[in-house]
Amino acid sequence: MPDQPQPDPLLALADACVQCGLCLPHCPTYALSGDESESPRGRIAIARALADGRLAPEPSADAALDHCLGCRRCEAVCPAHVAFAPLLLETRSRQRRRRGASLRQHVLEWLTAHPALLNRLLRIPGMMRMSGLTRRAGATSWVSPDPSAAQPRSREQRQDSASAPEPIAIFTGCIARALDDELAQALDRLLSAVGYAAQRPSAQTCCGTLHLHAGNTAQAAVLAKINARAFAGCNTVLSTASGCHAAVSDALAPITRVRDALDVLAERAEQLHFRAATVPVALHLPCSQQTVVGSEPALRRLLARIPDLTLVELRGMGCCGAAGTHLLDQPARAAALRAPLRQAAHDGGAGIMVSANIGCRLHLAAGSDIEVIHPIVFLARHLQ
Ligand code: SF4
Ligand code: SF4
Repeated sequence: MPDQPQPDPLLALADACVQCGLCLPHCPTYALSGDESESPRGRIAIARALADGRLAPEPSADAALDHCLGCRRCEAVCPAHVAFAPLLLETRSRQRRRRGASLRQHVLEWLTAHPALLNRLLRIPGMMRMSGLTRRAGATSWVSPDPSAAQPRSREQRQDSASAPEPIAIFTGCIARALDDELAQALDRLLSAVGYAAQRPSAQTCCGTLHLHAGNTAQAAVLAKINARAFAGCNTVLSTASGCHAAVSDALAPITRVRDALDVLAERAEQLHFRAATVPVALHLPCSQQTVVGSEPALRRLLARIPDLTLVELRGMGCCGAAGTHLLDQPARAAALRAPLRQAAHDGGAGIMVSANIGCRLHLAAGSDIEVIHPIVFLARHLQ
């Protein structure tokens, strides 16, 4: 008997959409243009038509798919449980095979796959500007400016963690490793205060999210294997970049559990004691933190322990537009998505903004007067 042709998995994913349109009000790109093709439902229709051959590849269809932020806000509200992330990944993988990628994308993918080299390169003066990213001084730090880093821990904290610290592995990422020294030091201080000793296996590499965003599934699979080897034997790995969380979790499953560092710190929040805040803080919640990681309650529980803290809420305002390399590939669209968040932070009198994803921090900080830091850095700066 001849082999039956295998059904196209992309068509099966697309066919789950009942075209109800309930996701449309939640899509940041649909909010920008109001065009159906820039909505989740429109993109699913385009992906389906490309897959079954009813639509020949053409620039406007590619652009509609390229503009997708991968924020998964549509997936979070879909009553039919359409798996939009795998659908987008499969679609972009086919686009990548058909179109290839730009030289810049190839360079970025190669550099992020070699984080130690990237780390050295980004510390060369002027290299950051040449990369297309900008960084306001102090927005994300090259070296730790934390004046309280050397302060002794309080007696209560010493008593709480009097027993031998529990080792816990940290996923450091690629860009964050190069650009956010203060985050690593802040995390170590907070973990130490609650009885953990941070360990960073040196063989780890980039999570591959940047590659997946651009449809390079082959390279992402290679990186996943490297990370699986690097973290072999670890029960738990902590992530501090919400955008990396899904890829690292997939790479290490089912043996190793990846947890947001905020969740782990919040479990022992009563051991953390903070100084009062002196400026209002804009709270940016990256899409990945809201739709994938789910660490918002932990973050709020930790922030609630800082006396006199006034939060400027940015929740419900949409994606900032960073989205992998979207901030580089579509700078005008990325700036348009970012503008209302910045305005709200400014109108609320925020002196500082916190955001748990490195791409969002770089994008939100670029050219801004408001310092943008990881919430863990903010917490550590106020640790007593
Ligand atoms: S993706 Fe889900 S919410 Fe959006 S149109 Fe399809 S079925 Fe409706
Ligand atoms: S992932 Fe985000 S940008 Fe893309 S279609 Fe869904 S809601 Fe819109």
